[in-house]
Amino acid sequence: MKPAPFAYVRPGTLDEVLTALGSGSAKVLAGGQSLVPVLAMRLGRPDTLVDINAVEELSSLTLTGDMLRVGATVRQRALEHSREVAAVPLLGLALPFVGHRELRSRGTVCGSLAHADPAAELPSVACCLGAVLEVAGPCGRRRVPAAEFFVGAMTTGVGPDEVLVAAEFPVAAEGEGFGFAEIARRHGDFALAGVAARVRRDAAGAVAEAVLTGFGISDRPVTRDVTELVRSAGGVADALREGTTDLAVDLVDTAGDAHGSPGYRRRLLAVLAARELARAARRAGAAPAPGAGP
Ligand SMILES: Cc1cc2nc3c(=O)[nH]c(=O)nc-3n(C[C@H](O)[C@H](O)[C@H](O)COP(=O)(O)OP(=O)(O)OC[C@H]3O[C@@H](n4cnc5c(N)ncnc54)[C@H](O)[C@@H]3O)c2cc1C
Repeated sequence: MKPAPFAYVRPGTLDEVLTALGSGSAKVLAGGQSLVPVLAMRLGRPDTLVDINAVEELSSLTLTGDMLRVGATVRQRALEHSREVAAVPLLGLALPFVGHRELRSRGTVCGSLAHADPAAELPSVACCLGAVLEVAGPCGRRRVPAAEFFVGAMTTGVGPDEVLVAAEFPVAAEGEGFGFAEIARRHGDFALAGVAARVRRDAAGAVAEAVLTGFGISDRPVTRDVTELVRSAGGVADALREGTTDLAVDLVDTAGDAHGSPGYRRRLLAVLAARELARAARRAGAAPAPGAGP
C-alpha cells in the first residue's frame, strides 16, 4: 500500500514547527521509522508531515551536572555510540535491543518515547530512571515526569499541537547498579516481555532503593518500588523468585496475543525481574560507595 497524499514541511525553527503543527491534522516526522510504516499501512492519514530535523536546537546531546539531555532529533545510534551514554548505564544496556542498528541509525530517542509502543525499550528506561520530558506547545514549555507521560498504548501526554523537545535522564549516582533484559522472538523484534531494574546501595552497602519497570506486559511501562523485596531476598535471584512471581501477577495486564498468553508473559516477567534485580544489586555493590571504607 502507498500512503494517502500529504503535504511536507521542514521548518528551521521551533516556532515554525509549532505554527505548522497548529494547522490541520499535522504530525511530527523525526526518524520516520515508525511513522512511515503507519502511513504506508494507512493506519494514520495526517494532512501534513512536519519534519523537525532542520531545527538546530533539537539536535544536541548534553551532559549537564546530574542530567543527560537528549534533544528531539538525536538518533538512537548516535546516543548508543556517544561518550555521554556512559553517564546513564541503563540507556547503554537497553539501546542495543531497540530494533536493528539500521533502524537505530535513523530512529530518534524522543521519537521512540513519543510513539509510546508498550513493548518499546526506551519508555521503560525513562520510567525506571524517573526521566523528565520537555514538551513545547503554543502555551510555552512544560516538563513532564516519565511516570505521567505514558498514558496508554501509543498514547502520551503530548498534544497534537505540541512537540517533545528533549528527554532528560538522571546520571547514575554513586552506589547505583542497573539491569536490563527482554525476551523477543528474534533479536530486534519488539519484546514479549522485558524489565529495566535499578538498585541503589547506601554508604554501608545496604540496599537503599530498588525500582523495577516492566514492559510488553501492559498498555504502557509499569513501575514498582521493590526495595523491601530486594532487601529481604538479600539481592539473590533465587530468593527473589517468590516475590517476583507475585509481582508478575500484579503487573502483567495484557490479553495476550499469538506470541504469548498472559500466563507465559507472567512467567517471563518473574524470571527476568529476579535475574535483573539481582544483577543490578551486584553491580550496585561493585563500586564502593563514598565513605564506605575499605
Ligand atoms: C522493523 C521495525 C522494528 C522495530 N523494532 C523496535 C524495537 O524492538 N524496539 C523499539 O523501541 N522500537 C522499534 N522500532 C521502532 C523504532 O525504534 C522507531 O525508531 C521509533 O519507535 C520511533 O522513532 P522515530 O524517530 O523513527 O519516530 P517517527 O517514526 O518519526 O515518529 C513516531 C511517532 O512519534 C511522533 N514523534 C516523533 N518525534 C516526536 C517529537 N519530538 N515530538 C512529538 N511527536 C513525535 C510522530 O509524530 C509519530 O507519531 C521498530 C521499527 C521497525 C520498522
